Amino acid sequence: MPRALVENPLTGRNEFLYLSDDEHEAYLELIRQDCSHPTTELRERGVAKEGRQHVYQCTVCGLAASRAIKRDDSLILPQWDEYARPKWQGVIASRKRTFLTAVFERQAEEDRRVSHEYEAYLLSDEWRTKRSLVLERDGDLCQGCRQRPATQVHHLTYEHMLDEFLFELVSVCDECHARLHPPAGAL
Ligand SMILES: [Zn+2]
Ligand SMILES: [Zn+2]
Ligand SMILES: [Zn+2]
Repeated sequence: MPRALVENPLTGRNEFLYLSDDEHEAYLELIRQDCSHPTTELRERGVAKEGRQHVYQCTVCGLAASRAIKRDDSLILPQWDEYARPKWQGVIASRKRTFLTAVFERQAEEDRRVSHEYEAYLLSDEWRTKRSLVLERDGDLCQGCRQRPATQVHHLTYEHMLDEFLFELVSVCDECHARLHPPAGAL
């Protein structure tokens, strides 16, 4: 799954954004800076040294859509739009913000759902059974130090979360368990 480190508009912090392939494509399309717009107009642009030039300008994003072409002074042309480019960049920035907000909101929702499911699981009979089988296997002894009685069952992996193999679970004491889960700030 492609991921990108971007500023989360919800928190103002740089966070990982996980995108599906479709979202990734949509995102790249959104932040594209190059011009493939079909509508251009021949306009007159003032240039410091060369005086005035006739150039096609994209009417959507404001980029020059041609080099300066041979000037025909009998033509009365609209003026070059200096504000089109910054305006377009503002449009892109706001689309990007909207997109990122939606994806980060979906991610946060997904995280909440998973953690609720997990909390409910830890209260289930299924987990209680699994837990006592693991403690029994380990002789109620912490497998981290083999000195203190085990008080908790720790996941070696979350790969099969909610449907673990017993060899993915191990009995530990409070001290060893605390070492396995250092507080986030200490990492
Ligand atoms: Zn354009
Ligand atoms: Zn221990
Ligand atoms: Zn643990």
